[in-house]
Amino acid sequence: MKNILVMGGAGYIGSHTVKHLMQQGYNCIVADNLIYGHKEAVLTPHFEKADLLDKASLNAVFDKYEIDAVIHFAAFAYVGESVEKPQKYYENNVVGTLNLLDVMLAHNVKKIVFSSTCATYGEPVYVPINEEHPQHPINPYGRTKLMIEEIFQDYERAYGLKHIALRYFNAAGCSKDGEIGESHTPETHLIPLVLKAIKGERKDIKVFGTDYDTPDGTCIRDYIHVEDLAQAHRLAVEKLDEYSGCINLGTGIGTSVKEIITAAEKVSGKKCPVEYSERRAGDPAKLYAANEKAKKILGWKPEYTNIEEIIRTAWNWELNKRF
Ligand code: UDP
Repeated sequence: MKNILVMGGAGYIGSHTVKHLMQQGYNCIVADNLIYGHKEAVLTPHFEKADLLDKASLNAVFDKYEIDAVIHFAAFAYVGESVEKPQKYYENNVVGTLNLLDVMLAHNVKKIVFSSTCATYGEPVYVPINEEHPQHPINPYGRTKLMIEEIFQDYERAYGLKHIALRYFNAAGCSKDGEIGESHTPETHLIPLVLKAIKGERKDIKVFGTDYDTPDGTCIRDYIHVEDLAQAHRLAVEKLDEYSGCINLGTGIGTSVKEIITAAEKVSGKKCPVEYSERRAGDPAKLYAANEKAKKILGWKPEYTNIEEIIRTAWNWELNKRF
């Protein structure tokens, strides 16, 4: 297998996956509409501007290249916006993926690795969360991802689609060599916001809730380095002949909001201005992954298990970002 089409390859996780795949000898084609992606993040010369809702643009990509497998990152991913504008999310994420599958099957491409999310589980019934945990997403964003996972199963039975849905926990960090990194507008994620507050680009970081049922009262999440995610995508592509299904990607380690702030202060050597504020709607107290399935099926193991090391790569990017 050689030619991998990376839909959404100009985005945060997509661009790091392209970098890793190319280092491993794969030929990557990136298709992206550049609404949220950055052209500067695309490290392959094969870039095509395409949009999931414009089937002609997708067909043109599949006509031009001999694609062996698709990794599909292209989605809208702001949870709050998905509540305000569900139509935008169902159309782009669900209809868009149906379009992509139509074009893939028309070109006899039957292998896909997909960005899913722990948001498909909803409010946790137990932690660590394994793949058998009930899936009751509590927002439209999570529902779009679950719908696509279910569509894959029907397409496998009817059309022989091979699929792996990777359910990410909290993606974090940036390329160790500083070449690419995380750059969202607007930024809503904890680690980049903490680092911007430390840099003085923002007034402070608002800690959403200090009365959760956790040791320090702040929410616990599982932060997984983007290069570990990238590696898992490559391993998943290589497993598509043998396995179809869903796999969690997390470190299995829980870190609280306060612990993130302390670690970021240690890495940067500076104080972070903090304002303790109200809970944010829809935030469970604790989310972290059981990752035995990823280890067993993919032969994957996270390299970054120390939160300071993860934050150091993000701090390095924050100080020297190219886009
Ligand atoms: N968080 C926070 N302040 C912020 C952004 C996030 O306290 O400005 C908290 C949020 O409540 C959650 C954790 O940080 O517990 C991670 O949030 P993020 O939005 O990065 O990812 P999520 O877990 O929502 O996917």
